[in-house]
Amino acid sequence: MSEPYQVLARKYRPHTFGEMVGQAHTVKTLINALDRNNLHNGFLFTGTRGVGKTTIARIFAKSINCESGVSSKPCGKCATCIEIDKGQSVDLIELDAASHTGVDNMRSILENAQYMPTKNRYKIYLIDEVHMLSKSSFNALLKTLEEPPEHIKFLLATTDPQKVPITVLSRCLQFILHKLTIDEILGQLKFIMDSEGLKYEELALNQIADFGNGSMRDALSLLDQSISYGNGSVMTKDIKAMLGLVHHEDIITLAKHLFNQDGEACINFIRELSHKGENITHTLKDLSSLFHQISIAQIINNTESSNDIKALSAQISNQDLQLFYHIAINGNKELSLAPSEQIGFEMTLLRMLSFNSNSSKIKTLPEKKTSKLELTPKTKPKIKPNAIPSRIVAMSF
Ligand SMILES: [Zn+2]
Repeated sequence: MSEPYQVLARKYRPHTFGEMVGQAHTVKTLINALDRNNLHNGFLFTGTRGVGKTTIARIFAKSINCESGVSSKPCGKCATCIEIDKGQSVDLIELDAASHTGVDNMRSILENAQYMPTKNRYKIYLIDEVHMLSKSSFNALLKTLEEPPEHIKFLLATTDPQKVPITVLSRCLQFILHKLTIDEILGQLKFIMDSEGLKYEELALNQIADFGNGSMRDALSLLDQSISYGNGSVMTKDIKAMLGLVHHEDIITLAKHLFNQDGEACINFIRELSHKGENITHTLKDLSSLFHQISIAQIINNTESSNDIKALSAQISNQDLQLFYHIAINGNKELSLAPSEQIGFEMTLLRMLSFNSNSSKIKTLPEKKTSKLELTPKTKPKIKPNAIPSRIVAMSF
């Protein structure tokens, strides 16, 4: 066991189109083009980080330069395939525009495109974050793209296609790569854990997949981190501690405070979370998810629902649950606009307490009798408790 540790994203990087996770449309189009040997000169792969842009580009590079011929199934064994996998191929020129912007070197590299490949069929330029090229580099790129020599292929990747000049866009086949689904990421995480022979809880992997937010690379680095944190295993309790997530039982407790109209307990709960540095955005998301589970428990006699959820479902009306869910989702959206996440969360919970059908029962401090600074009229308009629900319905839906 003296092998040096290799990060998972690198160790499990797909080497063939068959190993790619997701991006079925792009992969299918490329396979067809390769098998019919109908190859364009410029390809542009767009999509957010970690969705497979450069991975697809490298597999494509192998497919067209493999010594056994152009096909969608490069052999993976010839010197060229091995060199490309190791990042050592002389005819695959990989450039990262994000770290080369404005450098003359980049322009001269592109101006050299006209020379023949050193040993392979094609000279391939793989330019990552191409939107960051300097103006002069774009001009050099365009010059070659306008009248591309037969031996040149450009594989361009970007997270921001709107910043790529239209003159370049119009000369490339464009492929839009999508964020990966939780299931696609989860499948790969399980495959890796099984291949490595490591112990895991499925819920823990699910949380990692969720945190990856569509990016395989982000999910895999989180998996790396969790494996070291859990000393070789990936368990829910470790993930929660690592990501600052709140335990399910605590979310249940928060829902109980809400359903009991206990404002003070709700606020104390959030302040404690915040004090412990726990993840407020995710707590609100977990709370929304709990409202969903309770709503389901109200209409389906689901044996999988825990006793806590069943008890909560008997305590609240389905209308109030809908309202809570609606406020939680909107509160999450507005969290970034709040003065702080904690304030945003507190106001969201207070909104739930103020607008549900039991809002008249909210536990507040007793009203003070007199105050010198009183600015409001002494006779406050009284709102009849039963007038509140109709007001809410009009406001919220
Ligand atoms: Zn090969």
